[in-house]
Amino acid sequence: MAEPSTLPPCPICGQPAQPQYRPFCSRRCADVDLGRWFSGQYRVPSAEIPSAEDEKYTRRVDPDDEVG
Ligand SMILES: [Zn+2]
Repeated sequence: MAEPSTLPPCPICGQPAQPQYRPFCSRRCADVDLGRWFSGQYRVPSAEIPSAEDEKYTRRVDPDDEVG
């Protein structure tokens, strides 16, 4: 048990991260992550909760159905 520190796996490829590139495993993966940032793939999650108010679909059934 002489491990200095256990780094989480690279978020890009899942390989063991390297201390000099953490949290990534390599410069390449760090660049990939940076590229995603710049391309706008990372979006700040907004508190946008879809409401179920649109589902006001009421089915009308006439009791006075013509039976004959
Ligand atoms: Zn990686």
